[in-house]
Amino acid sequence: MLSVTFLGTSAARPTVERNVSAMALVREGETLLFECGEGTQRQMMRYGVSFALSEIFFTHFHADHFLGVIGLIRTLGLQTRAEPMTLYGPKGAKKLLAQALQLGVERVPFEVDVREVKPGDIIGSNRAPRTAYQIDVFATEHGGGSVGYALKEHERPGRFDPEKARAAGVPEGPLWGKLQRGETVGLADGRTVKAEGIVGPTRPGRVVVFTGDTRPCAAVVDAAQGADLLIHEATFGEEEKERAKETGHSTAREAAQVALAAKARRLVLSHVSARYSISADELVKEAREVFKETVVAKDGMTIEVPFPD
Ligand SMILES: [Zn+2]
Ligand SMILES: [Zn+2]
Repeated sequence: MLSVTFLGTSAARPTVERNVSAMALVREGETLLFECGEGTQRQMMRYGVSFALSEIFFTHFHADHFLGVIGLIRTLGLQTRAEPMTLYGPKGAKKLLAQALQLGVERVPFEVDVREVKPGDIIGSNRAPRTAYQIDVFATEHGGGSVGYALKEHERPGRFDPEKARAAGVPEGPLWGKLQRGETVGLADGRTVKAEGIVGPTRPGRVVVFTGDTRPCAAVVDAAQGADLLIHEATFGEEEKERAKETGHSTAREAAQVALAAKARRLVLSHVSARYSISADELVKEAREVFKETVVAKDGMTIEVPFPD
């Protein structure tokens, strides 16, 4: 299971319909939070996102992307949380988040580790080694060293063919498990059977890419190559494309061009300007002219990311 739930999809300020940026990614029962705009903790309660998370990833430090961390950490402290928490963000994260975490609380009763990341970094887990996936950090174009994150699952073993295993004389049981793991097995009659031919070629894992605020750029296209899901900001529509350029944001069409160039499977637009708060149909229409598999996020929307095969 891999899914994303949008907790906030409005640019710059909240509206009645949309809160500011935050997105929860749930993979095999583990919850990761990307951005934590003001009010995120309440959105988590509202949309059933677990507070049992240990990592938050920030793309940059504009107020609409991180102010919610102050209240969230305080609530977690009140819940007598003991597990440590790691916050990731670009240059400046240490100073800024340290200040934020001192606001309004005497002491955070659990360990909060802040790590500064830069494009090219691959984030391993702060505790157990992250064995099934990694998180790549890539550059975005929004000023101030902004970054995006790509969750990339490692390759999976190939498909096991029970008929072929039986035909090769391998009895059902622990030996099948060994074959599934790619090992060669020895049979009671002295023969050995290799996994090759019984287990198919390794299959790719899933890739989910989260840009945060950015102009359309080559670094995002590179990071999103073949992504199963690209979550790209689309603050503006075509009629405000000049404003998008001036403010370091993207239009829906520009986001679609990035998805097309990256050969992504699906595109979700988020971080929409308040004028599209009630209806973002115009953004979807403009994007779909370039990239058909586009939807615009809404608060509370969950999108499953299935394996392509
Ligand atoms: Zn923003
Ligand atoms: Zn921003």
